[in-house]
Amino acid sequence: MRIRFIAMLMATFFVVAIGVTQPRQGKPAVVAKAEDDFQLVKVADGVYAAIARPGGLASGNAGFVIGDEGVLIFDTFFTPAAMEELIGEIQALTKLPIKFAVNSHYHLDHTGGNQVLVARGVPIIAHDNVAQWQTTKNKRFLPTPEDLQKRRADAAKQMSETPEDQKEKRAQFERQVRRYDAMMTIKLTNPTVTFGSGVLRLYLGQREVVLSTLPGHTGGDVFAYVPDAKVVFTGDLGWSNTLPNLVDATVNDWIPTLDRILNQYPSAKFIPGHGNVAGPSEIKDFRDYLDDLRTRVKQGIADGLTVDQAKQQLKLPEKYKEFAFQNFATPNVEDMYKELKGTKQLQ
Ligand SMILES: [Zn+2]
Repeated sequence: MRIRFIAMLMATFFVVAIGVTQPRQGKPAVVAKAEDDFQLVKVADGVYAAIARPGGLASGNAGFVIGDEGVLIFDTFFTPAAMEELIGEIQALTKLPIKFAVNSHYHLDHTGGNQVLVARGVPIIAHDNVAQWQTTKNKRFLPTPEDLQKRRADAAKQMSETPEDQKEKRAQFERQVRRYDAMMTIKLTNPTVTFGSGVLRLYLGQREVVLSTLPGHTGGDVFAYVPDAKVVFTGDLGWSNTLPNLVDATVNDWIPTLDRILNQYPSAKFIPGHGNVAGPSEIKDFRDYLDDLRTRVKQGIADGLTVDQAKQQLKLPEKYKEFAFQNFATPNVEDMYKELKGTKQLQ
């Protein structure tokens, strides 16, 4: 009896101790797994896409290229934890060192893992403007530590109040808690090498990766082309079957950018910033979405609509209703309206 009591006491202590070292509540800690956060897709020999899973720790897509002397990582996801998982996947495939990383643009869902690579001494290459915006403009995508603590506590409370048999719902809260924990570890970290125009050629031994910059999505975007595999990493210049975030966009620049990319790489495979690995037709669909949006909003302005009327009346055409991120449909109208009126604030 006494032994059993001590065993129980020890078990309780053990659980409490785990509770202290791992800030999860309610259920035993769930071990983070890469497959919860992204799906690895082999696009060509030594060229991989890491496609973000909804609600996970990656948020934006990333990927990597393995050459004969090293590896290049394209984008660093939303959280350090997801970046660590990607490094784990890379190391399962090759013993070669990570030589370079690239930030396609400053948004936190593509740069949140930067600190992991800087700590490893990996140079991170980006557009000049990323160095200006990374630690300033990104603050709007990252709640304060106090706010994150509060949100985490709310999610943990809701989870603990959800009955055991509602497994789906509990798992959802569990994922939220896990996401807040990961967000609390983000330290906004700058790239270490930047360029503002022209082309930058990187070599992973024989294998070449060409970085270029084009305007439209933020005014500080870089994309990568792997010539021997005919693969383009578009970053957020390309979205596949997904409505875009236009918060920093200039659609009038973006449409010609996409035309140029499609013209230059007519038979490439595309790893988009969001959505699945695409061909030219999905990138064309995205280009047409932007063109369509611009046409509809232009007409709305010509008809005398205010911005609020435009948001109410200009409904998303049927053919884009299957796109992911439907919540962007109305903000897209507002951003387009302001761009056409010349009132959009881009700092
Ligand atoms: Zn993104």
